[in-house]
Amino acid sequence: MFRKIIVPVDIAALDRGEKILAMAASLVDQGGDVILLNVVEDMPSYIAMNLPVEMIETALKEARTQLTALKEKSGVQTRVEVRTGQPAREILAAAQEHSADLVIIASHRPDFSNYFIGSTADRVVRHATCAVLVDR
Ligand code: ADP
Repeated sequence: MFRKIIVPVDIAALDRGEKILAMAASLVDQGGDVILLNVVEDMPSYIAMNLPVEMIETALKEARTQLTALKEKSGVQTRVEVRTGQPAREILAAAQEHSADLVIIASHRPDFSNYFIGSTADRVVRHATCAVLVDR
């Protein structure tokens, strides 16, 4: 049904990632692609300049290790991609660059912390130019 699906996974919520990866596996066309994506969040330069240089490198490596473990555990054929930046913006950029036709994203009910500024899922739904499936 879909030939290229982006599955953005928050490393702090791997169980949700496992669930949406399984959904992607059941929706992707034979011969299609599933891309497992994590975004390592940028930090303001005034914080970054006080941190050891290798800290970002370590975070990128850790994200790649976690996504690879998730891929192997699931048995789903998928590519692993790690980007840096603001999560919603990078999820949207990855969808554009890969000409994805679906993004599958997890979401929880809004609470006070994201009621006003909106969540990652809200932003992706609002700005994506392809279909978005939100798992609640
Ligand atoms: P909500 O959008 O419900 O407030 P979150 O912002 O924590 O909750 O994340 C919702 C979903 O957005 C995650 O389950 C995941 O699919 C995606 N997501 C959030 N942060 C990242 C990240 N850093 N990298 C990749 N995907 C992410």
